[in-house]
Amino acid sequence: MNKNDKIYIAGHRGLVGSAIRRNLEQRGYDNLAVRTHAELDLLDQKSTENFFADEQPDYVFLAAARVGGIYANDTYPAEFIRDNLAIQTNIIHTAYKNKVKRLMFLGSSCIYPKFAPQPMQEEHLLTGPLEPTNRPYAIAKIAGIEMCWSYNRQYGTKYLAAMPTNLYGPGDNYDLNNSHVIPALIRKFHEARVSNAPTVTVWGTGTPRREFLYSDDMADACIFLMNLPDDKFNNLLGSDESKTGKFEPPLINVGVGQDITIKELAGTVKDVVGYKGEISFDATKPDGTPRKLMDVSRLSATGWSATTSLQDGLHKAYQAMLRQIDR
Ligand code: GDP
Repeated sequence: MNKNDKIYIAGHRGLVGSAIRRNLEQRGYDNLAVRTHAELDLLDQKSTENFFADEQPDYVFLAAARVGGIYANDTYPAEFIRDNLAIQTNIIHTAYKNKVKRLMFLGSSCIYPKFAPQPMQEEHLLTGPLEPTNRPYAIAKIAGIEMCWSYNRQYGTKYLAAMPTNLYGPGDNYDLNNSHVIPALIRKFHEARVSNAPTVTVWGTGTPRREFLYSDDMADACIFLMNLPDDKFNNLLGSDESKTGKFEPPLINVGVGQDITIKELAGTVKDVVGYKGEISFDATKPDGTPRKLMDVSRLSATGWSATTSLQDGLHKAYQAMLRQIDR
């Protein structure tokens, strides 16, 4: 990407989109196209087409999506499949019509089968049943990957799907019922510290293992990948299975390649927040999947690796939460 290229960040207010925007601005990319939801309804094809005709973006980061935790996924399955299919179909097709140079499609690790071997490799896509609670979201995202692959094959487009592991960072959702584990724990330990509560209760047994990536690192990876030279970028765009006989979708995992137990995570969040009380585990609450770890060999081969330690990332996320709940 050149500094004068027009870059469209769809979903610039979300966890990933906002981090991509910050990172691009820090690097001196100032020709960014962004629209709030109120200004542009991505569910509407005509509005999306008009926007692309006006702005003529050269590069697109597709980080707009309907996202949420298990409760939201379970309560609004129709919206999760419909909105995500519509948003990505409108953008991917319009990007092709408008000759966008490169597009990056973002999703999450829940596209992989519920019982995928660990660590999860890109080739594990479509090898088994999905976790039912977020299947509508996951199927939409899988359709998006297949769409990138099909457009690359038929039209020679350069669309890459980047699937992050569990992300956390500024702008996260800190609502205790709907949030993921990191924002939930930061908030719980913070409130316990402020109110001098003797114990913080962590859900589950503490034994599940998860991998966590700081959102600014995710943004850094996205921009690094988008800027790869042609030969390296093209290598990631998926092969034509009928010719190669290999299942190689245009897909790349973005993670740190290491996981920790929820118990270890709770101890680290406790230290970062400066809470002095006890931690207890409520085993009546669900543990979820025992382990979720991405294989990042494909990403490592491009030369990128994460730089923010969990400790530092949690510290920054905590500071950001204090600013957020203060407003
Ligand atoms: P998952 O990765 O899809 O399972 O999503 P979560 O981030 O919601 O949960 C990860 C793990 O953290 C699960 O084992 C939860 O039981 C555990 N956990 C512990 N305390 C909490 C909490 O307060 N909120 C959430 N969301 N998860 C928690």
